[in-house]
Amino acid sequence: MSAPKEISLKKIANHVDEKRLWGRLMDLGKIGATKNDGVCRLALTDEEIKARQLLIDWAKAMGLSVYTDAISNLFFRYEGLKNDEAPVVTGSHIDSQPTGGKFDGAFGVVAGFEVIAAMQDSGFRPQAPLEIAVWLNEEGSRFSPGMMGSEAFTSRRSMEQILVVEDADGVKTEDALAQTLASFPDIKQRPLGFPIKTFIEAHIEQGPILEAHAVSVGVVTGIQGSRRYRVKVVGEDGHAGTLPTPQRKDALFAAIEMIRAMRHKFDVEDMKYTVGLFEVSPNVPSVIPSTTFFSIDLRHPDWQTLKDMGDLVMTICEQNKGPCTVTVTEIATSESLEFPSEIRECISAAADEIGIANMPILSMAGHDARQLHYHCPTGMIFSPCDGGISHNEMENCNPSDLAEVTCVLAGALAKLSG
Ligand SMILES: [Zn+2]
Repeated sequence: MSAPKEISLKKIANHVDEKRLWGRLMDLGKIGATKNDGVCRLALTDEEIKARQLLIDWAKAMGLSVYTDAISNLFFRYEGLKNDEAPVVTGSHIDSQPTGGKFDGAFGVVAGFEVIAAMQDSGFRPQAPLEIAVWLNEEGSRFSPGMMGSEAFTSRRSMEQILVVEDADGVKTEDALAQTLASFPDIKQRPLGFPIKTFIEAHIEQGPILEAHAVSVGVVTGIQGSRRYRVKVVGEDGHAGTLPTPQRKDALFAAIEMIRAMRHKFDVEDMKYTVGLFEVSPNVPSVIPSTTFFSIDLRHPDWQTLKDMGDLVMTICEQNKGPCTVTVTEIATSESLEFPSEIRECISAAADEIGIANMPILSMAGHDARQLHYHCPTGMIFSPCDGGISHNEMENCNPSDLAEVTCVLAGALAKLSG
């Protein structure tokens, strides 16, 4: 085969079409649209099946081949000049929170389509094939925890563990998954975990940093780690008027002491400490609370700090339980991670070559790239979002920021695919 014509990254970037990118995002955002201009598109629902069909229609119109796998991840493939090589992959997710926005996840998938369209328009053929991945259930709002697609693909969680997870109505992942796969009987299935040359995920920042710096492209350095716990405090119910204070086992007061003690202890730089779920029972005005149940979400960019602090949760709860009993369960642990420097340098070099300002940024939220990091060299590119607002129907982005990130993504993927 003859050597391909040299095509500059600038030329590919010149074919990134802001209107086409934005138009596709708006079309995808109509599927599962909420009254307040947001999106509710939960994993493995009819809405999500409709969204998959839209992507498949785009892919077919562009001449891309379509694949799926046992967990219903989707892959859209643009053939390269060396198709026996492992693909360079980009993408994200199309499921949302129940009151989510049009950009979280969707942008990374739509940007992949725009990159390939720009390459086709500019006459660029990559060496290694280029693929767009759509990972199943990143958000975990219907079937929890999320990142099912990327975790199954990278064997970070087994299919057996995933298939038995039920939603709030008792529907099993296994059954919902079978329904989704049956909706697309003609799509060829691939094995999980096939080799990937490099994975780059474009995503909105979901925080305020890029906007504050007025920079449209963030080269993500890594992802801060998290440790999540569930705490159950058991006391004894009793009459609010008659039971003397020294004899009470008030599960609410004990929980408050624990939460306050942790707030004090975890007041260190860059630590994020959240108690987002709190239940009290029987939750009646004149009865002393007998049980409380709450969550702890701890995050810090430095894994050692997070590890040391997280190890104190049990002790602090024990020290503050008073006359009650307490059970602490750690339900999820994610180490802080750093993306390889070659990938970060490749992304910023592509941005420099195209002439787009960029800055390094740490991801404060988890993404599918967290799982792919353990499978192949991985990186991420962030776009600013208005006010850093996300997981919210008001989530919004500037079309030109998204186009600039897509240009950089196109440049990086072109370099990585050789
Ligand atoms: Zn996301």
